[in-house]
Parts: sequence; structure tokens; C-alpha cells
Amino acid sequence: MTDNSSPNLGAELWKVAVDAPLPTTFTYRAPLDLRADPNLRRGASVRVPLGNRQVPGVLLSATNDPGEFKLKNISAIDTERPLLHEAFLQWLEWLAKYYVYPIGQTVEITFPPLKKQVKARKSKKAALTQEPETLSVAPKLMPEQAQVISAIESSPGFGTHLVHGVTGSGKTEIYMKLLEDVVANGKQGIVLVPEISLTPQLIDRFTARLGNAVAVIHSHLTPREKTNQWWAMVEGKKQILIGARSALFCPLPNLGMIVIDEEHEASFKQDEKLKYHARDAAIMLGKFSNCPVVLGSATPSLESWQNAKLGRFKLHQLKHRVADRALPTIEVIDLRGEREERKAEGTVGALPFWLSDTLYTAIDETLAKGQQAALFLNRRGIAQAVVCPDCGWVPACPNCEVKLTLHGKSHLLCHYCDYHETLTEYCTECKDGEPKPIGLGTELVERDLAKLFPQARLARMDRDEITTREELEDAVRSIERREVDILVGTQMIAKGLDFPGLTLVGLVMADVAFNLPDFRASERAFQLLTQVAGRSGRHLDEGAGRVIIQTYNPEHPSIHYTVNHDYDGFAEYDLAFREQLNYPPFGRMASFRIQGPDEAKVARASHHLKTLALSLKSKSKNFDSVELLGPNEAPLKKIRNNYRWQMVVKANDAATLGSFCRALAEHQDWVPSTIKIMVDIDAAHLL
Ligand code: ADP
Ligand code: ZN
Ligand code: ZN
Repeated sequence: MTDNSSPNLGAELWKVAVDAPLPTTFTYRAPLDLRADPNLRRGASVRVPLGNRQVPGVLLSATNDPGEFKLKNISAIDTERPLLHEAFLQWLEWLAKYYVYPIGQTVEITFPPLKKQVKARKSKKAALTQEPETLSVAPKLMPEQAQVISAIESSPGFGTHLVHGVTGSGKTEIYMKLLEDVVANGKQGIVLVPEISLTPQLIDRFTARLGNAVAVIHSHLTPREKTNQWWAMVEGKKQILIGARSALFCPLPNLGMIVIDEEHEASFKQDEKLKYHARDAAIMLGKFSNCPVVLGSATPSLESWQNAKLGRFKLHQLKHRVADRALPTIEVIDLRGEREERKAEGTVGALPFWLSDTLYTAIDETLAKGQQAALFLNRRGIAQAVVCPDCGWVPACPNCEVKLTLHGKSHLLCHYCDYHETLTEYCTECKDGEPKPIGLGTELVERDLAKLFPQARLARMDRDEITTREELEDAVRSIERREVDILVGTQMIAKGLDFPGLTLVGLVMADVAFNLPDFRASERAFQLLTQVAGRSGRHLDEGAGRVIIQTYNPEHPSIHYTVNHDYDGFAEYDLAFREQLNYPPFGRMASFRIQGPDEAKVARASHHLKTLALSLKSKSKNFDSVELLGPNEAPLKKIRNNYRWQMVVKANDAATLGSFCRALAEHQDWVPSTIKIMVDIDAAHLL
């Protein structure tokens, strides 16, 4: 184990991070016998009394200040838990401070759910990753791949690398080579992927190359499996940890690299408890551990892109697909025009309203060639947007330029400020259409397809159909085995999948993506469109895959830049918009959530919080850039009998936002016991 730099051996009073919702550490006394124990040091796990319970905690530092409460003794040192080393401790302390979350509960996330298994039982389930008989050999790298690898390896130590490569450019291959070298250098690495991409496809690829070195942690492991994988990494028996965001919390003794695939994915932000962003947290862990952090994406987040532009991240670009395979061709179908035509021809109803003639014909042709088609339909937002079926108009907030969402039958609300209006019967834009909530679903699409293509084998993948990991894996396998001709699914299936037979991708109604009530809506839509398109024709050595995007807004910038495969252009366009309104990555944003079972009390507390915030702002010039929006009802106004309100805080930079939010969150003695106030720094969604 790493020696901690200032272990404070032999000290009497200790600040302990206690696993309880306490804003700060608690001070405990080490009794004489423990003081003589060399295991009593910063980073050690202990058990301490709290009320009438015994709870786990971690020693952070010696202190001379006995605190304001009656001192209690540390009960025991818990030597079963490994000593947390200095870089990792500093990272945990940073997380707790930055995300305004209790240090004790932050530290506790580190540890596995069960006790260490003393005797390894030979159970088939415990062996998650099986050593393949022969490891696969890396293909000869493409020149672009080789360049990226040597550029990253030539700068050891901490640095953040952004690998921007078009879909199918061989990014995964780059990660595997980098990690092979990490292992060869006697170090360990972490690969973070979005939970949904942790499919057998990806895990098989890594184990085929890296064999027994690979451990996997995801949310569907049993507590025993998770505990075993954790220890295998902590004891250095395995070298590469692949996992969803929580894998960061495994305290590797010998961290040499962190890779984050699909770094733009919104799911890297945890939106409950410790509301950390795994990308940002990984960069900080790399910094404390002095190792490189590699971010990869075909559509980097604008935060990362801006950091690359400013020179904080090193940018590496791959502009070509492997073996110069073609990027798919993308056609855009204007659903407004389609509607007009059908009205004129009197063919309304011949095909379902969501299916254009072009997409219908393309499906037919694909099936005739024995290839596979996939239709994606972005799951309709939980918060409902309204759209005019004739012209595609969607009501937006005049202050925030985000889409309004429908509450009740006709109440349109902005979720950033408190702007609201009443939904009119006829569209204010074309004066003709009758705006409706967007309510098209995958189930309807599947049903219509079954009628139109009775011979085709259909599969549906969405959150109603796929609820377990096994179901996801089964579905993936059956598509790989070509037991499915048409796949219908939500965006959840678009992530990272690689099906050789898939040559046609249809986006049923792209609009759902850019009508979300979020300033990141355009970015998410661009990412989604590009990722979805990237599933088509990945293995075609001749010709190109085909993508058909149906939309009411063919001139929407997200579509325009997707069609031209122009990430740089999109980034420039959207950054200009963000800069005007001081949205991230320019300004920073946090949200306070106020919730409780009594609506009136929640409203009152929210307004009081705003009053406190205003007075805090007026106390210091440092807070000049702070802007307060709301408070107002959250889009999901009631969950599990709790009413939810929110207040948004914007500021020019992270430091200002952080100190303002910490100061505001600190004094909660006024908060009624039934009300909870939580802060979300760098909030990703306001739901
Ligand atoms: P990305 O992660 O950028 O989408 P992948 O790493 O999945 O790309 O590569 C796309 C496909 O090309 C995969 O089937 C992969 O095995 C293959 N591939 C990657 N690099 C090479 C290479 N240098 N030579 C041949 N095939 C490659
Ligand atoms: Zn607004
Ligand atoms: Zn209209």
C-alpha cells in the first residue's frame, strides 16, 4: 500500500469522515491502545459511535480542536478495509467539496457492499470474465490510430486527451492498445463507458485482447460479484477495470490511465446523492494520481471541445473510418412537405402518418437484399413538448430560448425561469395547425410495421420491452445472429452497437430530440443523430450505409451539420449561442431542488431560499456574476408524493458558483424538517 504523506501517527484527536448525512467531519478520540497502533493513520477505516449506533468512518487528519460536542472514543480500526492512499483521499475530499456533499457519505461510496470473500469459491457466476484460449492480436493500426497512440504515450503524467474520431474510426482499438501498454508497464487502468454500452459486445472485445487482466463493474452485478471484482483490482490481481461511472470509486493502488468512452454521454452525470459528473471527476482523479486521462467521442461535449480549443485538453482527431469505409449517406425527409403532398394527392392514411414514402421504400429494399434496418424514435420526453403537426412550430421561452413544457391541459411553462403562457387552440405560427403534445411511441411504430411488412421479423428495444441486462444481451445476440430484420427502438439502443448486417437506419421523428426543454437540446440532438447514423453500414467495404432522418424542421442546425458530418461547424454554431446567454461551457450552472410532501410549504421554502440567495449575493462583490432564476415548479412536479421545486443559479465561473452554492447550502437550520434542499452543481437536466 502507498504510504500516506502525513499519516499523523500516534495522534489523540482525529477528524473522521463518518458515514452519516453530516456536512463536515466529526472529531473522535483515539484511546491509548489505538494510539500505539501503526494502522491508526490518515486514510484508515475505523468504527465510531454515532448516537447509539456504530458506524464506519475514515480518518482524515489529526486535530487539536476537540469540537463542540462531548468527545467519544474511536471503537476500533477496521483493518479489513484497505488504507486509502493519499491521491485517492484528496480526490474524495475534492468531490465532497465541489459537489457540496457530506464527506463521510462520499468516502463510503468507495467500499464494496460485502465483506471480502476469504476462500475463493469456484462458482461459475463469480468468474465474470473468462480467459479466452488465445488472445486476439491487435490489427495493424491505421496511420491515424498510430499517430494518436504515440502522441498520448509521449506525454506521460497528467494530461487530458480528447480523441475526436468519426464513428467507426477505430477509437476502441486505440483504447485497447493504450491499455495493453499500461499493463505492460506494470500499471492499472480504468475504462468508463455508459452503463448501456456495457454489452457483451464490448466486454468480449476487451477480454479477447487483454484476457485475464480485465475486471468489470456495473450496476447489474450481485453484491458478491461486485465485491470480488473490487478486491481483484485493489489487490492488483487484475489490471483493467471496465465499468460504468461508479468504477471510478475503486481505489486502484497503481492507476496509470483513465479512458472515458462516449465522453459526451449525459448518463455520466449522476443525478442523485453525490451528483458528480464522471468525466470531470475522472479528470480530477487523473490529476491527483498524475496519470493521463483519455476522453473519446465522435461528438464531444461542448465543454470538452471548448477545453480543447483553449488548450486545456490536447485534441487528437480521426477523420476517416477504418480501412477508408464510407460514412453513411444521410437523407432528410420534410414531414411538412410529406403531409402537404398526401393532402394534395388524397393519399392521407395510405401509410401511417409517421412513415414517409422514402423510408417505406428504403425498408422494403433493405429487406429484399437480406440486410437489416433499424428505426429509432427518441423516447418522448418525460416533460412533454408541444408541436404543431402542420408547420412543426414548438413554443419556446422568450427569456431562455428553451422549449416550454406542457403542464396539465394547456399550461405551458419554462423550467429555467418562471415564464408561462396558455396553449392556444391554433398554432401562432401558421395559424392553421392545432398544436399537440408529442406522443408517438415505439409500440405504435412496431404495430404499424407488422402490418406493412408481415414477413419481416421485428424486435423492439425500449425501456418497456428491455428491463433487465439479460434481455438487452439476448436482444443484441439475436440481432447479431440475423434473427431480426427490423429493429425498432429508442435512442437507448443507439449507443456503441456494431451490427454488420445493419445498413439502413431511419429516424422516425428527429424533432423529439431538439424540442427538449434544455439549453443542451441542440447538442443532444446532434449527438443522437450522429451516433444513430453511425450504426449504419459500419462493415460495408463497398458502398455506404443509408440513413433517413424524418423531421418537421429540416433546416434545424442539428440536422444540417449531421448531414454534412460537420462536428466542428456544429460546435461553432452552438457555442456562439451558449456564449450569448452565458450557458456552460461559458458560465456555470447549478440547481437547488426543494422538495417535501406539503406543496405550500415547499413553495414557501423555495421563496425563502431565493430571499437568502439574494441577500447572500448582495453581501459580496465576488458574487456579482451570480444570476438567480426561479424558483418554480420542477418539470416533474411531484414524485413519490413529494412536491418538487427548483431554483437555478448561474455564475461566470466554477469557483464563484461553488462558493456561492456552498454558502447557501450551509445554513439549513431554518429549513422545516419535512423539507429537503439539495444542490446539483453543473446540473445536467432540470427535471
Ligand atoms: P469506434 O470505436 O471509433 O467506433 P472501432 O474501434 O469499433 O471504432 O472500429 C470499428 C471497426 O473497425 C471494428 O470492427 C474494429 O474491429 C475495426 N478496426 C479498428 N481498427 C482497425 C484496424 N487498424 N484494422 C482493421 N480493422 C480495424
Ligand atoms: Zn425562461
Ligand atoms: Zn403551425
